[in-house]
Formats: sequence, C-alpha cells, structure tokens
Amino acid sequence: MNAQQPLPLIGVTMGDGAGIGPEVIVPAVLDAATLGRCRPVVIGDAARLREAARILGTDCEIVTVEAPAAAESVPGRINVIDLGLLPADLPWGVLSTEAGNAAYEYIRLAARLALAGEIDGICTAPLNKEALHAAGHVFPGHTELLAHFTGVEEVSMMLSTEKVKVIHVTTHIGLIDAVNRIEPGLVERTVRRGHEAMVRAGVPEPVIGVCGINPHAGENGLFGYGEEEEKIVPALETVRRDGIDARGPLPADTAFFLASRGDYDLIVAMYHDQGHGPVKVLGIEAGVNLTVGLPVIRTSVDHGTAFDIAGTGKAEAGSMIEALRQAAEMSTAR
Ligand SMILES: [Zn+2]
Repeated sequence: MNAQQPLPLIGVTMGDGAGIGPEVIVPAVLDAATLGRCRPVVIGDAARLREAARILGTDCEIVTVEAPAAAESVPGRINVIDLGLLPADLPWGVLSTEAGNAAYEYIRLAARLALAGEIDGICTAPLNKEALHAAGHVFPGHTELLAHFTGVEEVSMMLSTEKVKVIHVTTHIGLIDAVNRIEPGLVERTVRRGHEAMVRAGVPEPVIGVCGINPHAGENGLFGYGEEEEKIVPALETVRRDGIDARGPLPADTAFFLASRGDYDLIVAMYHDQGHGPVKVLGIEAGVNLTVGLPVIRTSVDHGTAFDIAGTGKAEAGSMIEALRQAAEMSTAR
C-alpha cells in the first residue's frame, strides 16, 4: 500500500436491523485496528446504530453523512449514510418486513456506490432471508442481490486467511453436480476473477495453483475419467497465453500445503469442500467469505442475524472486525 494513498473506503451494510448487525458494527467500526486499515462508512439507519451503542454502553458520536467521501475517520466517530427506513419501535430479534426491506435497500445503495466508484469495498452484516422474502425480495442472499444490482452474471466465492487464499469454481451444489458443471469456460473465468482480485489487492503477478478434481489430479489417468484433461487443462492453456501464471492441475492435498509455505498466492479449488476443508483448519479468520467478480470486493461475516441474542449486547464483533480487515486488505490497491 502506498503511504500517500488514502485508506480504502468500505461500505458496511447494516443487514437486518432486528438482528445483531448493528451491535457488531458499532464496536467493529470504532475498533482502532479497523481505523488503521480503512475508512468504514455504514449504510444503514443512524437511529438503530444509536440504540445499539446505548445497549452496548458505548460512548460514540454517530454522524450522518451524505456520501462516503464525507466520512471522517476519527476515533469515537461512526459515519453513517442514513436511510432512515426502520420504525423507531422495531423490536429486536423479531422477523419483520420493514427490516427485510431495509436490508435490501442498504445493499441496493451499496451496489450503486460501488458502481459509481464511491466505495472501494463492501462489508455486509447479516440479513435474514425470511425477512427479505417477506418483504417481497425473492433472492437467496447478499451475493445474488449484489450481482443483480451491479449487473454481474457470475461471481466466485473466495476464502482468505493470512496463509492461504482460495477461490472456488463451484460451491453450494452436490458433488456430482459440481463435477458436471466444471468445464473449461467456468474454470477460465474463475482463474481470471481470482487473478484480477489479487492484482487489485496489490499482488501484481500472482502465482495461482489450480487443483485437479480427482485424487493426485488424476495420476495420469489412473483415477477418474480424464476430467483434468477435459475440464481444466484447456482453461489453463488459455489463461497462460494471457500471461496469467496459473499452474496445475495440482493434487489438491499438497497444493494447500505448498500455498501455506508461500509457493502460491492463490489456490483455485474445484468444489466447496476441497477449498473449505483445508482453510477452516486454520481457524476463525477462515470464516470470512469474499465475493469476487463484483465491481468491488465484498466480504461478509460468518454468522447470521442471531435473533435469539439480538438487542442483548452479547454478540461478538470479532467476525465483523475480520471481515472489515479482509475488505481493506483486498481493496488497498485500488
Ligand atoms: Zn458453504
């Protein structure tokens, strides 16, 4: 990161205001380490944040700003673009269409700001899918909403830790469906998205290790039915012609070990558990989930709205702090 460059502006969407979003955002955006890495600006409801701060017994100034650029990074100050959508008497921990609709509007605005180049990253507090649907917005979740609002057709999920970063070719589908879906085009697009994200994050020539599908990446035809040759090798040939240093197909078991040793900046996993398993061993930070392929990087916490404890001040802000750290890290070079 260039010392002259201002810290990245990260839009923090408040999620479902009846959940623990406001309570984890308040300490996370006030955190001294957070302020050393980025300039967070909350996209949400100022009154709800004040209520969360009161519940937490946190003394802070919650200031409404008109645009992200107006956010002042000062200890004890929370900058918020106030949509003012939540009723003053919204109960904590109760599903409501108001909160579901508000969460939708926060994301809509975040997408607009990202497209306009007014924010460098997005960090999302959890929304409640039932509330979102009850408000008439039938989307599976944040990722699809952001893709919709930014006009992006395909994104990739990345998990990021200090030692290992992994981007997934497929995620939440059955293993047989995953193998069927993997084809050279999808592999190629995934490698390119990962490459672009790494370049943006300040790694100009990332070394990318691409996993095979079968054990030992097929062991020269001993395992599987030639999936590596058919589905992966053509994609690697294509991206290499564009100067992308993508190596593989690699045996997945050793690829992660080599990445943790520093041989690869990014690993491309073919399916959910191939990437998630090794990364989750590394601990809590592995819970942060990044969406790659949107106009800006997006990170999210690893927990839900936790309606059972919302409004009690018991929620832990650690995952939100880590999500903000990752958003800052992956957007510093913009
Ligand atoms: Zn999952």
